[in-house]
Amino acid sequence: MSITIALSKGRIFEETLPLLAAAGIEPLESPDSSRKLIIDTNHAEIRLIIVRATDVPTYVQYGAADIGVAGHDVLLEHGGAGLYQPVDLRIAQCRLMVATRVGFDYEAAVRQGARLRVATKYTESARQHFAKKGVHVDLIKLYGSMELAPLVGLADAIVDLVSTGSTLKANQLVAVEHVLDVSSRLVVNQAALKLKRKQLQPLLDQIASAISC
Ligand code: AMP
Repeated sequence: MSITIALSKGRIFEETLPLLAAAGIEPLESPDSSRKLIIDTNHAEIRLIIVRATDVPTYVQYGAADIGVAGHDVLLEHGGAGLYQPVDLRIAQCRLMVATRVGFDYEAAVRQGARLRVATKYTESARQHFAKKGVHVDLIKLYGSMELAPLVGLADAIVDLVSTGSTLKANQLVAVEHVLDVSSRLVVNQAALKLKRKQLQPLLDQIASAISC
């Protein structure tokens, strides 16, 4: 039986490579140079598919891929239906943060009960975060370049991933609140795990034992 692994380009692909290598799996091409969406590996029965980060859970949920690697943030937005999440890979680590323009008094606005406008791609995580704090917000869904929203008056704050902090700094924004720590997880189609356990379980075990502590 063949195994299909869904990955996204960029940081997740780069940081998953050593884990696949530990399981003896090597892609025959790089998605950057080949532009191919299906990439063969050194194992005839194992292939990689390259999809958008937010689409990884969907491909795995419907069984178009048996396993995949997706950020915790992406999984929270997806909801995790049909997915088994056995391992935190501790890769692509970053934080989901609330950020505002430098000089905006976020604490005071929250204290005064102001209704904040918050722009984000991560509406589900943001909704849960502000509900837990009892802060009323109007969420504005964006698909990218969230840093722009407070600068042009679209929103008072954003909820976005922060890694080094340099994107916020370059746009005169500052992180004001931690929402959650994010890293990427292995996701497995629940039906595939039963049907292909003999092939999948050793692969999952090898990947898990290669994770850096
Ligand atoms: P940085 O400037 O290093 O703080 O990175 C922030 C930018 O990179 C923002 O636009 C984030 O949306 C994006 N980013 C940071 N970490 C990740 C990640 N693990 N996955 C996806 N996007 C990320």
